[in-house]
Amino acid sequence: MDLDVVLSALTPSWTSAVMLLAFFTYLAIAGSILPGRIVPGVPLSDGSRLHYRCNGLLALLLLVSVLGISSWMDLLSPAAIADRGLELLSTTFIFSVLVTLLLYISGCGSHHQSSSLKPHISGNLLHDWWFGIQLNPQFMGIDLKFFFVRAGMMGWLLINLSVLAKSIKESNTSTSLILYEVFCLLYILDYFFYEEYMTSTWDIIAERLGFMLVFGDLVWIPFTFSIQGWWLLYNEVDLTSAAIVANCLVFLFGYCVFRGANKQKHDFKKNPKAPIWGKPPKVIGQKLLASGYWGIARHCNYLGDLLLALSFSLPCGISSPLPYFYPIYLFILLIWRERRDEARCAQKYKEVWAEYRKLVPWRIFPYIY
Ligand code: NDP
Repeated sequence: MDLDVVLSALTPSWTSAVMLLAFFTYLAIAGSILPGRIVPGVPLSDGSRLHYRCNGLLALLLLVSVLGISSWMDLLSPAAIADRGLELLSTTFIFSVLVTLLLYISGCGSHHQSSSLKPHISGNLLHDWWFGIQLNPQFMGIDLKFFFVRAGMMGWLLINLSVLAKSIKESNTSTSLILYEVFCLLYILDYFFYEEYMTSTWDIIAERLGFMLVFGDLVWIPFTFSIQGWWLLYNEVDLTSAAIVANCLVFLFGYCVFRGANKQKHDFKKNPKAPIWGKPPKVIGQKLLASGYWGIARHCNYLGDLLLALSFSLPCGISSPLPYFYPIYLFILLIWRERRDEARCAQKYKEVWAEYRKLVPWRIFPYIY
């Protein structure tokens, strides 16, 4: 593709701004009114808790149905998002910059007494804008952190579905594209099915909401996780049956480890006596789980996620490194994240964590790392 074409495709447009605002408005309304389990978040530093309405799956299914019916009635083109991929990317980027500037300004002006809602201002404007100054900013009763990650995951699925529609329109749908689409669909549906688990993850409990997180949720997740789909629109891959079976096995194994590990920790936090793989759990210092996946490596959930990421790229074959962007990025992110989490846990759990480390020496990859 020539550079001029790419640059002109990257120019934001009013149409993409309207599409983006319509999406956010839908999410804000659906998230506030659709029924869903109200889940208490982890206790904040002042002992209070936020509450999250976990209705993401319903909101997603309703949105996809409405868009599907509108396309069927010829009210909109199902390939509209794929046709405007680059301009939506630049519009979302600009939105992320603007919204985080507003977050910074409103954070500076807020005078919350509660320590968990108090802004943390370092005085370095760039640092504070990048990392954020508020842990749990709210807007009209909406928790913005929970909102943005939900928008990112749904945006990823919408892009994928639109890429699929474009490939059908251009009669170049391949087995590879279908494999990629199905794996991502299952992963995203699973994410929303277990949305309440999100309320205890690092991003929600430890990261402040600044440009880094908003950009990660709104731009990075939907636009870079979908690279494989875009790539398959323009490149042909011949997969053997053995390669397809192997690819499905990587996905299934990755899924079992990822979901199994996250579920074991979640269940353990709710009920420390809940059996793990049919046996009473091994618990260290009455705080840390050391059985099941958590007895194999200290972050088996990251291993599962990495295998899943790999399974999303394998349908693209090995002719280009580009479709491997997501697993490579995730590898770097999770290695870094594990180090930060390790430091946090060592500080929080002290000698109990040291004992856990001794009992479970592997960080992510058993017998390797
Ligand atoms: P975890 O869900 O692993 O949460 C880490 C926290 O769990 C620790 O801080 C500690 O918190 C608790 N913990 C750690 N070890 C134990 C133990 N043995 N027993 C009991 N509690 C323990 O990390 P993340 O929030 O980073 O990740 C959640 C999921 O999201 C992962 O599956 C990850 O792969 C995925 N993810 C995906 C990304 C992507 O881009 N695809 C990006 C980032 C994450 P506490 O203080 O509560 O005890």
